[in-house]
Amino acid sequence: MSEIQITNCHTHTFTNAHVPKYYPNRLVRLLGQIPGFLRLASFILRLFGHTAADTVDRLLRFKQEGDAPQQSDILHNMMRQYPSNTRFVILPMDMGPIGHGPVAKDIRAQHDELSRMNVADDTAANVIPFASIHPKTPGAAEEVRRCIEDLHFRGLKLYPRLGFEPSDPLLMEKVYPLIASRNLPVMSHCSRGGVQGKFVSDIFADRVTAPQAFMPVMQAFPGLRVCLAHFGGVADWREYVDHGLPDRPDARDRNWQTAIRDMICSGDWPDLWTDISYTLFHFEDYIPFLRIFLTGEDDRSERLRRRVLFGSDFYMTRQEKLSERAVCFRLRNALGEELFRRIAVENPKVWLGEQAE
Ligand SMILES: [Zn+2]
Repeated sequence: MSEIQITNCHTHTFTNAHVPKYYPNRLVRLLGQIPGFLRLASFILRLFGHTAADTVDRLLRFKQEGDAPQQSDILHNMMRQYPSNTRFVILPMDMGPIGHGPVAKDIRAQHDELSRMNVADDTAANVIPFASIHPKTPGAAEEVRRCIEDLHFRGLKLYPRLGFEPSDPLLMEKVYPLIASRNLPVMSHCSRGGVQGKFVSDIFADRVTAPQAFMPVMQAFPGLRVCLAHFGGVADWREYVDHGLPDRPDARDRNWQTAIRDMICSGDWPDLWTDISYTLFHFEDYIPFLRIFLTGEDDRSERLRRRVLFGSDFYMTRQEKLSERAVCFRLRNALGEELFRRIAVENPKVWLGEQAE
C-alpha cells in the first residue's frame, strides 16, 4: 500500500475527570471505583463459562482508557494503532450541566488540555482540535470564541442529546455565525445511543438528534458544512439491514440512516456530511451495504461518495470486539484503495475547509 495521510474525523480523548461524578448512575460509578471489581467479575463469569466475561473485559478496557490521567495518554494509545502521519479530529464534550453531578475538570480545562496537545512537539502534526459547547454552561459562546480565535481550534462539536436543540438561539445568534465566517465545519452526534442528559426524555433526545433537526440550521447558514456523525447510528442500521424498511417516504424519514442518505443524495442539502464512526465497527454486518451505497455510478451515489468521512469514535470503540487497527485494515481492504482514499484522505480535507471541492 502506498503512503497516504489518513484523517480520522471522529475521535475522543476526554478522561473520567471530564465525566460527571454520578454518570451513568451512582451504583455503576461506585462499583467502578472499587479496585479490581470488573476484573473479579470477569474472572467469576469466565469460571462459569459465561460469554458475558468478554463483555466485561471490553468494559474494563474502556474504563481503563478513561482512567488515563491525561488526554495525551489516550491520544498516544490511539496513535499507536495508525500510521505515524495520521491526523485525528478530537472532539471534546461538555457534560458539566447535564444533571449527573459535578465534573472534576470543566470544559475550559478540557479545551486547554486539548490546546496543549495541539502545540506539543510530539503531537502537533496529528491533532485537529474542535471546540464543544453546551448552551446551558455560563459563558458558553464566549468559550467557543476563545477556542477559535485564541487557540486556533478547527471546528465545532455538538451533542444535542445532552439536552438542547441544534437551533438553540445561542447557537443561531452567536456560535454558527462565527463558525461560518471562519469557514469551519460542525460535527454533531447523530445516533439514538450515547450520553443523555439526566432530565432529558428519550423523545426529546431523539427529536433534537434527528437529521431533520439540522434543517433550520442549514437553511439559515448555507455553506456551513455539517457532519451528522455515525451515519444515523447502529439501531437504525440494524433496522435497515435486518428487517428492511417499508417502501414509503415516512418510513425512510424515520430511519436516520436512510434519512441522511436521502438528504445527501437528493442534492438539496449540499453541505450535509456524515461519518461512519462506531456504527461501521459492526463490520461484517454493515460493510457490504456501505460498499454498495458508495459504488453506484449515478449522480446520487456520486453525491454520497463526496460526503462520507472516515471516523472511528476511539475510544468508545474499546467496548467492541475488533481493535481500531483491525477495523481500519478491513475497511481499507473491503472498500478498495480508491474508495478508502476518498473517505479517509480526500473528503476530510474538503470538510475541514483545507481544500476546495
Ligand atoms: Zn463520538
